[in-house]
Amino acid sequence: MQKGQIRVQTENIFPIIKKFLYSDHEIFLRELVSNAVDASQKLKTLSSIGEAKGELGELRIDVVLDAKEKTLSIIDHGVGMTGEEVDKYINQVAFSGAEEFVNKYKDANIIGHFGLGFYSAFMVSDKVEIYTKSFKEGSGVFWSCDGSPEFELYNVDYNERGTKIVLHINEESAEFLEAGRIKGILERFCKFLPIPIYFSEAGE
Ligand code: ADP
Ligand code: MG
Repeated sequence: MQKGQIRVQTENIFPIIKKFLYSDHEIFLRELVSNAVDASQKLKTLSSIGEAKGELGELRIDVVLDAKEKTLSIIDHGVGMTGEEVDKYINQVAFSGAEEFVNKYKDANIIGHFGLGFYSAFMVSDKVEIYTKSFKEGSGVFWSCDGSPEFELYNVDYNERGTKIVLHINEESAEFLEAGRIKGILERFCKFLPIPIYFSEAGE
């Protein structure tokens, strides 16, 4: 049993994600923007009941395209995550078992309903990075993963409350490095969200 478990855990999640989700790649953006909205709404709620202290500042979400660096970033100023939370909500979900993952993902339309929406980022990315700082005490945190179980997680100087997700867009997904493509998705999916979404291109 232990052996089987290890084998499953060392499986690369890329091929699994690609196999089951090949048809609807663009949903990654909706998933990541939804997470950013959730994090911002959570902060508002916590603030209204006095659990989050101080000024909230402008709760906006930025989607920033850097075609030169081949990255797309989604930045929010919501609750953020502590290192422990990244480990709990990001790592353990991903590597808790590829088989379970496959079963949950058979139908692309149900993505997001099982708390695995974040991993749709790997459909279009060679590597995904998270910079985050919780509204709670503590340091900023950096997490990076190329879809294999060799993720990195350590403290960094990220001093802005909230989360920045950086997608290193893979070669097959070059369409998502085009401003028009991203704007089109945002217009369709992200029109009626309670937090404003801004699109921009790096260096502009
Ligand atoms: P779900 O949104 O259904 O819970 P996801 O896979 O999309 O599942 O996200 C997993 C968890 O990771 C979230 O529940 C949340 O705790 C955390 N998370 C993801 N993105 C963010 C973010 N931008 N800010 C704070 N926490 C986040
Ligand atoms: Mg989600």
